[in-house]
Amino acid sequence: MGYSTIIFSLALLPLTGVFASIPKPQEILERITRDRIIRVRLAEAAPKVAIRGFDLRLYAGGGGEPVRADRRSEWELRCQGGRVRAVRTDVPGATASTDAIDLVEPVRIETPAGFLFFRGRPYRQSITVRTLGSFCEAVNELDIEKYLDGLVNAEFSSSWPAPAVAAQVVAARTYAVHQMIRMRRNPSSTYDVDASVSDQVYDGSIKEDSRASQSVLKTKGLVLVAPDGGKIPIKAFYHSTCGGRTELPEKVWGMCESGFKRSVKCPFCGASPRIKWSAELAADDVRDALLRSDGGAGGTLFWPASWRKIIRTGKLTDVRALPYAGEKAQLDGRVATVVTSWSHAGVLHEIRFPAARLRDWAGPQKIRSTAFSVSRSRVRGGFGAWRFDGRGNGHGVGMCQWGAKTMGERGFAMQDILKHYYPDAMLRKAW
Ligand SMILES: [Zn+2]
Repeated sequence: MGYSTIIFSLALLPLTGVFASIPKPQEILERITRDRIIRVRLAEAAPKVAIRGFDLRLYAGGGGEPVRADRRSEWELRCQGGRVRAVRTDVPGATASTDAIDLVEPVRIETPAGFLFFRGRPYRQSITVRTLGSFCEAVNELDIEKYLDGLVNAEFSSSWPAPAVAAQVVAARTYAVHQMIRMRRNPSSTYDVDASVSDQVYDGSIKEDSRASQSVLKTKGLVLVAPDGGKIPIKAFYHSTCGGRTELPEKVWGMCESGFKRSVKCPFCGASPRIKWSAELAADDVRDALLRSDGGAGGTLFWPASWRKIIRTGKLTDVRALPYAGEKAQLDGRVATVVTSWSHAGVLHEIRFPAARLRDWAGPQKIRSTAFSVSRSRVRGGFGAWRFDGRGNGHGVGMCQWGAKTMGERGFAMQDILKHYYPDAMLRKAW
C-alpha cells in the first residue's frame, strides 16, 4: 500500500478527531530510530503456540513483572476469547487442568539465554502471543539489525559477493522500516512484517552467519529514501531475476510508489537459473485461474456480467499477450494485458486482465514473470492449450537479485548496485 492509498483510506474514516490520533510518518520514524525494534509476525492463526527455551519468563497483559517464579523450559499457549491459557508441557503427565494458568493477553515470553524456540527454530529477544478468537497470533519482537542478520540467508545467500550482499541488506532494511511506518500508522496494529514471502522470508536466527552479520554491521542504519519523500524509506521492492528490464510498481499493483519513477535495463541477470522459463496452460488451467480471480483484484477490465457462466460453459478459443500502449511490443518484452477469447452460445466474448494477475491466479511457480510470449501449444496439436515462454522470475520491481550478484562479481560497489536498481532514491543513514 502506498501513501496515497493510506491517505485515501483515512479520508474514508467517518470519525472526527481521528486524525489527531494517527501518528505522522516522521514521528513514527523517530521512534523506530530510537528503539529499533521490529515486530515480525510468525503465526497469524495458530491453534496453539509451543515455546521452548531456558528459564522462560512470562509477562501478562503488557506487565513489566514476570507472572511466575518457577520458571519453566517449555510452555504451550492456547488462546480463547482474550485470555491465554499457558500449559506446562515440560512436566511428565501434565494436564491442562492441573498444570495450566490463565493469563490476560498479550503474553510476552522472554529468556535470559537469548533464544526462544518456536516450531523448531530459534528466535531472538521476545515472542508476544495474542488471541484472535480461538486462535493465537505469535509475533517476534527483536532488534531490526538482528532481524536482518537472519534474513540474509533466508532471502538469498551470504556467499554472494560482499557488495551484492550489502545492497540486499540495505534494500531489506529499507523495506522493513517502510512497512514499520506503514503498519504503525494504525495504533492498534500488532505486527510490522510477516515472516513469509508476503513480506520478507524470516526463519529466525538459524540462518545467521558471520558474512551476513558483517554486511549488516557495515551498512548499519543505511536506508534508501526518495529525494522528495522527506526521510521516509521507500518501499524497496526486490525480486529474483528481472530478465532484462525492471518493472514499475504501478504496472504490477496498479499504484505508484514514492521513489520509483523509472524502470532500468538490466544486462546482468543472464546467469540466473531462472532467466528462461516456459509453462503450458490448457483451457482448463486458464478457466481455473480466472475462476480463482473472483472477478476482482481490480483486474476485471469490464468483464461481462455473466463472466462466470461464459468461462464455465464456454470454449476458450484464443489467448493473446498485449504490450503496453504506446510502447513497442519488443521494447522490453513485458506484457501489459492478457486477452482471452471465449465462445459461448454462438457469441465470442473477450475477457482481459493485467498480466501480473495471471501470475497471481495461475500461480507464480507456473507464470514466473510478466515478460513472456504466448503461442498455441504444439504438444497438444495446437488445440486447447497455450505455451508461455518467458524470462525472469518475480514481479520485476526494484533490485534484481541475480543482477546485483553479477554486478558484485564485476567489481561494482554497493552504492553502484543500489543506484542502478533504485535510480530515483538515495542513501541515508537513519541510525
Ligand atoms: Zn536483471
